[in-house]
Amino acid sequence: MEVVNHQFRLAARPVGMVGSEHFDYVEEPVPDLKDGEVLVKVLYISLDPAMRGWMNEGRSYIPPVALGEVMRAGTVGRVVESKGQKLAVGDHVSGWLGVQEYAVCEENAVFKVNTDAVALPTHLGALGMPGMTAYFGLLEVGRPKQGETVVVSGAAGAVGSVVGQIAKLKGCRAVGIAGGPEKCGWIVEELGFDAAIDYKSEDVGAALKQHCPAGVDVYFDNVGGEILEAVLARLARGARVVICGAISQYNNIDSMRGPSNYMSLLVNRARMEGFVVMDYTARYPEASREMAGWIADGRLVAREDVIEGFERFPDALAKLFRGENVGKLVLKVADE
Ligand code: NAP
Repeated sequence: MEVVNHQFRLAARPVGMVGSEHFDYVEEPVPDLKDGEVLVKVLYISLDPAMRGWMNEGRSYIPPVALGEVMRAGTVGRVVESKGQKLAVGDHVSGWLGVQEYAVCEENAVFKVNTDAVALPTHLGALGMPGMTAYFGLLEVGRPKQGETVVVSGAAGAVGSVVGQIAKLKGCRAVGIAGGPEKCGWIVEELGFDAAIDYKSEDVGAALKQHCPAGVDVYFDNVGGEILEAVLARLARGARVVICGAISQYNNIDSMRGPSNYMSLLVNRARMEGFVVMDYTARYPEASREMAGWIADGRLVAREDVIEGFERFPDALAKLFRGENVGKLVLKVADE
């Protein structure tokens, strides 16, 4: 029986905010499998701020998505046909299969995930790329020491919510910066952050002074812009600033704005360092094992924000930039 596939392919490079006009919705039959290949039914698609960057032309840490190509995305799904040696029908897998309902790929292009202990979408969140980003960005680049103050922006998002919780597990004080009372309430009451700053209604500089009286030892930056500037002004001596992302700048039409307070790095003998999670791929299993243990014993809360309906992809992606997600944003494509 012929299987029909639907895909979102990149149709145009956005200038400013991403929207449905930048994608083509395409229908095509699934090709026959060759030896060594598997057919995966995609069940959940990861929605990541980085997808906006991959739509731009120009040099980055990976090549841009080409016009006409299926939009790149992390996915989890189930093997529905196999001509491979290792993967069998029914296995759950994770991989970069793109924004489509079905994908034919080499079996080595995906890896098997265990759904006994954690739900499938968590493999795109706390146990997926965002969780790895939080783990390695904080522990390897931020290097927090017990008793230090860790500040994270985008604190109610996929990466930020995990950063703050790991900071607490390591004996630090965790202060999160997020937009709105619901997000700020969640990270303090449910995730155990020591304090939250609502950047939409508070003066971030004044709130940092109140919540970080001895200064900020580690700043994990997900947003850039004015929030980065405000935190730079409050650094403690020897602080580490982890440049993980700058979502406030991704849809800018003008060139990206740099931090005006960077001389604070000199005054405080501080360090600001960029970080790309893919550099740690070989160590994902080690982080994943430790984080799965924290989830199992209730010390790490993993939350996914699930949007249903494949055809809603373009608007679902834009939700990230409108701050409409709490926890890891995923698109549910199909039931098992
Ligand atoms: P996320 O935080 O789950 O979702 C994005 C959040 O960003 C929104 O919910 C919103 O929260 C906030 N936001 C949007 N526009 C903003 C603005 N103008 N100013 C301040 N905050 C804004 O996304 P994520 O997947 O965890 O990614 C977080 C960051 O990590 C992104 O910058 C991403 O590019 C980066 N990242 C980097 C790596 C790496 O290897 N370096 C890997 C993964 C992710 P509010 O409602 O709180 O504004």
